[in-house]
Formats: sequence, C-alpha cells, structure tokens
Amino acid sequence: MSFAGEVKAELCRAPHSRKCCAQAECYGIFLYSNTFSAGEVRIITESAAFAQRLPLILKKAFKLSFDRVPEGEGKYIFSITDPQKLSIIQQLFGGDPKTPALHINFGIVEESCCRTAFLRGAFLAGGSVTDPRKGYHLELATSHLSVSREMLALMREMELEPKAAQRKGNAVIYFKQSDRIEDFLTSIGAPLAAMEVMNAKLEKDLRGSVNRRVNCDAANLDKAVEAAMVQMEAIRKLEEQGRLAALPEKLRETARLRLEHPEDTLSQLAQQCDPPVTKSALNHRLRKLVELSREEWEDGGAREKN
Ligand SMILES: [Zn+2]
Repeated sequence: MSFAGEVKAELCRAPHSRKCCAQAECYGIFLYSNTFSAGEVRIITESAAFAQRLPLILKKAFKLSFDRVPEGEGKYIFSITDPQKLSIIQQLFGGDPKTPALHINFGIVEESCCRTAFLRGAFLAGGSVTDPRKGYHLELATSHLSVSREMLALMREMELEPKAAQRKGNAVIYFKQSDRIEDFLTSIGAPLAAMEVMNAKLEKDLRGSVNRRVNCDAANLDKAVEAAMVQMEAIRKLEEQGRLAALPEKLRETARLRLEHPEDTLSQLAQQCDPPVTKSALNHRLRKLVELSREEWEDGGAREKN
C-alpha cells in the first residue's frame, strides 16, 4: 500500500459515533470530492478503507444512502443524484439547493472534534501525501477556489501554516516541511503516519551526518597523505646533503620510520619508536626534520675552512 493509502486507512479507523462529527466529516468529503453541485455529489477514491467508511458516515450523518455504489475494486465511485437527498444535505450546510453553498460553513466546524472530522473528510476525499522516504509533500486539492481560501484561513487559525497554489484549475493547499506535515497528520487523527514522517526525517538527517563525516574523514586523510609526502621529501633531501647522519638519534630514528612506513599515521609511527613516544612528540620531530631541510645550508666542508 502507498503511504497515502496507509494514512487514509489510519484515518478510517477513527470512530464514527458522534453525529456532529459525522456531518462535519461528510462536509469535508463533499467540498473536496470530485463533484459537489446542485445535481450531484460524486466521490471517487482508490482507498478501500475510505470506500468502506463512506456509506457508514453518510448514514450516521444524514440517515441517507448513496444512489450509486462501486462495483468491484480499483477505483471506487459513489454518487448521490436524488434531488431530495441533495436538498437535505444542502440545507444542513446552509446552502440554497439550486446554487449550492461552496463555502465552508464555519458553524459546522466550531467544535474541535468536528474540525478534526472535517479536515479528515477533506483529506480522505481530496488529499494526497508523498512517501516521506522519498520527499515531503502533503496536499489538499479542490476545484472550489473559495473553499480553498477558507480552508487556508481555518488551518492558519489552527496554526498549521500551510501554503497555497493553483494548479490546472484546482486550488491546492500544501505542506513541504516534514514537521508541518507531522502536525497536520496528528491534527486530523493519523499520529502513526506522523510518526513515520518523523522517523523518515531522523533517518535522513542521520544519513546526511554520516555522509558529512565520511567526506570529512576523506579530507583529513588527504591532508595526512600530503603531510607524509612533504616529510619524506625533506628526509631524502637531508640524506642527499649528507646531513641526516649527523642529526640526533631521535631524529634519525623518526626519519627511518617515516621512510619505511610512508602510509602510517602519526600514532602508528609513534608506537614504533623505541621506546614508543607520544603522537605529539613524533609530530614535533617530523616538523623539525622538515624545518631543517628548509634551512639555508652551506656545505659543511666550506664552513670548516673558516
Ligand atoms: Zn463533533
């Protein structure tokens, strides 16, 4: 099942015991359904859980049944075309049956229980959400622009902070941030799905920090290799000039170890000294060797003559 399917299945596990909430849920469903006009209410869904819940909710809310129910599986299509049924529905939502009220009747979403149910209905009928392991996107789409505007206001009042856009004649309300999506899912009654979004985010952040760490280690390694090359070059130069043999034993030992183990780290080299020294002591010796090699050097024999 897709993540969106999972979310809808979770939402459909909400009880439908209160009439006020059932009506609010139906209201959300109708306003975000495929058709909500004077002549028809039509809901099309691919969610089996929603298709199961829908007739029960309609019955609880209005004691009505659908005129058309789906046959078979796949795309589930429900519709109401009976004018008497449509008029009952419109009356409750405060509209004139001939020019249906395509506005949010805020009286119906006054109670917080009903507001949750309303949003749940809207999401079940017109919502979709991307798998959080692939990206963060949750949206609600309706063809009724005024409904979307009012929905935006309602969500802002609930501090959900959605964004809005228009796409192919539809008004879309969407969320792009994982924590906003979590808040929305929690507020409509899908805490498990919200948790999944949170976990996906944590996993992604963790992977990001591991990658950064690996890149950082690689950069450090490059630096170490570069340093070792500089040290070896310095030691060879000292050797060629015949100066190495005249250096103190500690430096000679360090030079020999470095030449023998070009790829060893400082701590590895430090352990091979006899007796072993600290990493910083070894580092100090290597630096001394590099320094000496850079010193202006006059031929020792020439100096003796003076
Ligand atoms: Zn209620």
